Amino acid sequence: MTKILAIANQKGGVGKTTTTVNLSASLASSGRRVLLIDLDPQGNATMGSGINKQGIELTVYHVLLGEASILQARVTSPQGKYDLIPANRDLAGAEIEIVELPDREMRLKSALEPIEAEYDYILIDCPPALNMLTLNALCTAQAVMIPMQCEYYALEGLSDLVNTIKRVRSNFNSALRIEGLLRTMFDPRNILAQQVSEQLQKHFGNKVYRTVIPRNVRLAEAPGFGTPVLYHDGQSKGAQAYLDLAKEILSNGH
Ligand code: ATP
Ligand code: MG
Repeated sequence: MTKILAIANQKGGVGKTTTTVNLSASLASSGRRVLLIDLDPQGNATMGSGINKQGIELTVYHVLLGEASILQARVTSPQGKYDLIPANRDLAGAEIEIVELPDREMRLKSALEPIEAEYDYILIDCPPALNMLTLNALCTAQAVMIPMQCEYYALEGLSDLVNTIKRVRSNFNSALRIEGLLRTMFDPRNILAQQVSEQLQKHFGNKVYRTVIPRNVRLAEAPGFGTPVLYHDGQSKGAQAYLDLAKEILSNGH
């Protein structure tokens, strides 16, 4: 069965896109059929997958508005070996336009149906907001992956996200669950990071992935080359960490 994961956290810059791109590439490298859906007007996952966001005519925006089928918008990441539904600034308008449409929370879920079964994993990169786009992702997914930096305010925003997930569960998608919390940009020498990490494990127990993503410059560089880190520097700590994360997810049977 296809596993659909929303990578979400309304806090900006916590590593959502880095995780979506590199986990997609890691899962694809172990033979899984992967689709990445870029649901952020910033189009960072699109660029990071080696697709020029300015050069594309049909994006997830047109799919959500019913102006194009998902088949028409689908492209393949030349580097990542996975398929992609791209996004660019057009998507910023969707936030307002979708509100007027019927089944506004279910637009992505319905649009995805024709191709869903072609994939083992579908990863959705959410924008840094609890808006209609993120809501569409949460209504489509079976589970949410929450990347977070282990810093002082990290836990504060988490309760808003957890409440939103609960609301989606009771109104739209009863099967939705939290797949796991992913510690990103981790610096083990930082005492505060260690403390927040411990707190996380205390609160969320085995919902915290064992794999930790270290701060690694190769991960930050790779998008500039339009490639997942695996094909920029496969030996780097960052590349190895995302391969480990893929292994952990696969061994969980998720
Ligand atoms: P936004 O909320 O704006 O969509 P995001 O949550 O998707 O942001 P990213 O874009 O993945 O976060 O990461 C933010 C910045 O941190 C980027 O410049 C990225 O290259 C860098 N970064 C992410 N993870 C790491 C890491 N493990 N080590 C070093 N740099 C990282
Ligand atoms: Mg992002």
